[in-house]
Amino acid sequence: MKGRLGNLYELQLIDKQLDELEELRGDLPLIVNELNAHMEVLQNNINAKLEEKEEAQKTRLANDAEINTLQEKLKKYKAQLFKVRNNKEYDALTKEIDFSETNILEMEEENKEIENRVGVLSLEIEEIQDELNKLQEEFKEKEEELKKIIAINEKEEAHLNKLREAVVEKIRKNDYNTYMRIRKAKGGIAVAPVYRGSCSGCHNVIPPQRQLEIKQNNRLFSCEACGRILVSAEIAKEIEASFKNK
Ligand SMILES: [Zn+2]
Repeated sequence: MKGRLGNLYELQLIDKQLDELEELRGDLPLIVNELNAHMEVLQNNINAKLEEKEEAQKTRLANDAEINTLQEKLKKYKAQLFKVRNNKEYDALTKEIDFSETNILEMEEENKEIENRVGVLSLEIEEIQDELNKLQEEFKEKEEELKKIIAINEKEEAHLNKLREAVVEKIRKNDYNTYMRIRKAKGGIAVAPVYRGSCSGCHNVIPPQRQLEIKQNNRLFSCEACGRILVSAEIAKEIEASFKNK
């Protein structure tokens, strides 16, 4: 009977370590993925601003070309002013001149605004690029860390799985099924040692008579409160000591 309970408790110790390994690994991939997603958002942001900058600069060049054309026309109109033959012609020409001058002023104004906007965009792009560079550093670090952990975990996991197989072979099928069922229902912990008169799984007090029976190790007892398989502190201590050397 000592072996029956002891083996279950050893299985519990192995599974707890396997759970811990999985937990360790379970966290880093998430962080790496989140960093990756954040980097993508920043890169898209930069791309959008670069595109806006390019569009603005195109508009500016088009304005410059149009301003040049209008200035050429202005020169022509102003030369023609000296050759007008009547008021009607004079009015028509001054109208054209006013129109061209207003247009030039408007486009020059727009170009100033574009210049300001391009300046702001350049600063923003620089800032985001700085943030992105920092994230890339962090990403590299975390990715390295993850690779290392996976490499270390693989060895330890293989070792633990070997130990697990060996102990499962010694456990009765029914006991194993009971263990797995409780483990699934109780957050991974199916076997609880009795410490200071209580179930260590839920702190429910075990009556003294029941404590004696558990110590005798003649059969399996479950905690009446949480349903976990109870083992005596003595067995737990013995198995923990032998497990440390494995
Ligand atoms: Zn309990």
